[in-house]
Amino acid sequence: MSDHYDFVIIGNSAAGLQALRTLRRHDQNSSIAIIDREDCPAYSRVLTPYYIGGNIPREGLDIVDHAFYTKLSATTLFGQAVVSFDPEKHYLQLADDKQVTYTKLLLAVGAEARTLAVSSDRACVLRHMADAEKLVNLLKGAKSVTAIGAGLVSLPLLSHASEQMEKHLVIGSDHVFSRVVDAEAAAIIEEQLEAKGLKIHKRNDIEEIIEGQQLQLKLSSGDSLTSDLLVIGKGVTPNTQLAVEAGLEVAEGVLIDSFCCSSHPDIFAAGDAAEGKDFTSGEMTIQGNWMTAVEQGENAALNMLGRGCPYQGSLKNNITEIFGIEVATIGHYQEKDASEIISSWNSATGRYRKVFLDEQQRVIGATMVGETNDSGLYYQLVSTRSTFPGKELLHGTANFARTQLRLAS
Ligand SMILES: Cc1cc2nc3c(=O)[nH]c(=O)nc-3n(C[C@H](O)[C@H](O)[C@H](O)COP(=O)(O)OP(=O)(O)OC[C@H]3O[C@@H](n4cnc5c(N)ncnc54)[C@H](O)[C@@H]3O)c2cc1C
Repeated sequence: MSDHYDFVIIGNSAAGLQALRTLRRHDQNSSIAIIDREDCPAYSRVLTPYYIGGNIPREGLDIVDHAFYTKLSATTLFGQAVVSFDPEKHYLQLADDKQVTYTKLLLAVGAEARTLAVSSDRACVLRHMADAEKLVNLLKGAKSVTAIGAGLVSLPLLSHASEQMEKHLVIGSDHVFSRVVDAEAAAIIEEQLEAKGLKIHKRNDIEEIIEGQQLQLKLSSGDSLTSDLLVIGKGVTPNTQLAVEAGLEVAEGVLIDSFCCSSHPDIFAAGDAAEGKDFTSGEMTIQGNWMTAVEQGENAALNMLGRGCPYQGSLKNNITEIFGIEVATIGHYQEKDASEIISSWNSATGRYRKVFLDEQQRVIGATMVGETNDSGLYYQLVSTRSTFPGKELLHGTANFARTQLRLAS
């Protein structure tokens, strides 16, 4: 005997939660179930480094509480993993032998952190609450921490660990945040990180971990580091296994059309597990950011309700603060494929701006370092394909040095 729901959402995080909210906002009568392996109301993964570093309490991560789901009359199947689903028979198999049938299904199953070929009990990825709890314990009494990976896990984690700790960052690329900012912006960030005591080991990898009182980390450069723990931030792998086994079309992620629908008309996908069109390039991509997951969750829900709402495509949209430095990237962030780049840098204030334009002078991307108050404005310019309103916007004050490159003639 299986329970039937009009809508079933697998994944109770950015995409799934927004889908639930949207379904209920537009439809008070349908039955909805939301399923997650994790046994807690939705929380912010983005803020877990603050919690691990002791800067916010566990409750500070919560986005909603149990009462939220009751209020929306949603059935919660938390602490339960979906092990398979059948697109034609419209049923899901849960790990405890329970089956659930659905009319429309949303895959909001996110991604898993990649690990290293080498391992240790004192090395840990950061994706789920269990990882965060393990890192809280590993950091207790630690005097040094090493993180590997140049992105949004390693740097915030190092940033929020105690200032007294010795901190190392090992990265494979030649600059930090290599998937978010270009080399010029990264150089400005790195100078400030190093001034705050972070030791950056570029074009490197960890080839061996030797256990001892401290971990000895053998780097591919031949150098070695000693550290009390290792945080692994080497990117993520989308959770596509269920979709592959069910016969859906999958590339890196579950392929979705402009209605967030998969290759099966009753199955939708959103967030870090879904591969859809990028707003600026038009290429299929997985943005891997919270905002995209929310937008796609909302769009998928509208289309599960049969509203026929096209999604305009996802935009890179990252705003973070590391070691007291604010960094934001909206849309395009590399010289490649931009027709014109306008940048400004004020060494006195640490405020850096770079705006990328296409051949029609429309803003396709912006990078901000030092202060990100105007990121909403740039988001608006990029998402409405607006032309650049002028240098006043970029400058703000009179004493900026400015460079202007015309890349395409
Ligand atoms: C430390 C950290 C820092 C980050 N910083 C930023 C940032 O600064 N800015 C930004 O935009 N993004 C950031 N991100 C990325 C952001 O958190 C993700 O893009 C976002 O969480 C994606 O949401 P999602 O709903 O697609 O998937 P997820 O958040 O991955 O959630 C998927 C859910 O599905 C559940 N699930 C998966 N498979 C199953 C199954 N078979 N059965 C049941 N349940 C299942 C999982 O348990 C999980 O709860 C960060 C991520 C981390 C980990």
